[in-house]
Amino acid sequence: MIKKLLSTILICYLVLSCTNQKPVTTGYQGQGKSAIVSTLSKPVQKQWKGIWSFEDGTTFFSNDFESGRLNGIAYDGNDHYTALITAENTPINVSPWYAFKVWSTTPKTITIKMTYQDSRSRYYPKLSTDGIHFTPLDSANFNAINEGTGTFGIKAVPEFVEIKVNISEKPLYITAQELYGSTRVKQWVDSMSTKPYVTTYEIGRSRENRSMNVMQIKEGSHKKAVMVISRQHPPEVTGFLAMKSFIETLAGDSPEAQDFRNNYDLFVVPLMNPDGVDNGHWRHNMGGIDLNRDWENFNQPETRSVRDFLVQKEDEGYEFVFGADFHSTWDDIYYPIDSTIIGKKGEIIFNWIENISNRLPQKHTNIKPSTDIKPTMVSRNYFYVNHDMPAIVFELGDNTPRDFLRLKGKIAAEELMKLLLQ
Ligand SMILES: [Zn+2]
Repeated sequence: MIKKLLSTILICYLVLSCTNQKPVTTGYQGQGKSAIVSTLSKPVQKQWKGIWSFEDGTTFFSNDFESGRLNGIAYDGNDHYTALITAENTPINVSPWYAFKVWSTTPKTITIKMTYQDSRSRYYPKLSTDGIHFTPLDSANFNAINEGTGTFGIKAVPEFVEIKVNISEKPLYITAQELYGSTRVKQWVDSMSTKPYVTTYEIGRSRENRSMNVMQIKEGSHKKAVMVISRQHPPEVTGFLAMKSFIETLAGDSPEAQDFRNNYDLFVVPLMNPDGVDNGHWRHNMGGIDLNRDWENFNQPETRSVRDFLVQKEDEGYEFVFGADFHSTWDDIYYPIDSTIIGKKGEIIFNWIENISNRLPQKHTNIKPSTDIKPTMVSRNYFYVNHDMPAIVFELGDNTPRDFLRLKGKIAAEELMKLLLQ
């Protein structure tokens, strides 16, 4: 009886204290524990690439460019088309990437219904006539069909969308996010490499024989370094854009950046999955695998090349003081390793997050520390478990405003420099 009473009191106390202490959080709360999956290669459906022609050869659609994805297109009459977007293989995360061009011999307005394999309409359409400058589709030309009922994630977005666009002889790009294929990423890396302390070299080859490149920012001969990677997942362009701003700040001309480079080297793999990016994949590499599950068994050449690079650097005597892997999801979120696991070593990460947040009060960003670090599977865990690196998954929202992404990347770099130079 007393035992029962005590346990009732204890439960009440726990419930009350949990209720009292529950932090007020808004926005995306983060994903749960990652399931353990095999990373042995699986078949991938290579996309047919080419030009579709309609209405007596007056209207055309094409997916034949870097990062293009359009798996089928049907003409329904009355200037209405239905586009089919499918994944490279399944099961797969719901990141239905699309990118195609459309044009016609005479100017006209058409409507395109976007449909997806086992997914809903995650990415808001962007338009461009040069493949470089993109603007979101005017909302007056966006019609959601079967709107989502959830508050966040795939359940909150429409099942299909119908978009209205004006087309003419000049091809119009319609894409899920801005295009940053391997050619454009290389242009950025080359532009950075005009600085005397920036060099780029190959550390391996992807499954389809694309270069795996490291950008090295190095002045002086110290053996402390920061490691940064991005684009394990092809559609995650917003993570890439924040990473780009982060790196440009660390490699910049400010006295702090100079001071940083006088004490630390910086290694960057800006494009972890060049095959997936150039083939317009939703998630996987050409081995049909989510690379961010392969940091335990290293069955894929892309992850192996970075593993071997890190092992080599450590053999050369390097100590890694910070590691970041940039991604995109439903909203900005930080995934550090929980302090009960990482202890004092992780203080820099939590201080860094706090300092960034203090400078960006306009946008609350959730933090979801992870206690699951073995098997390592994801890059952050591998960085910490195998190389003793305080490491984080830095996630940006699909729809986070682009000027805010740039600002966040810059401030994240400035705050990291401050902490590392203390
Ligand atoms: Zn990701």
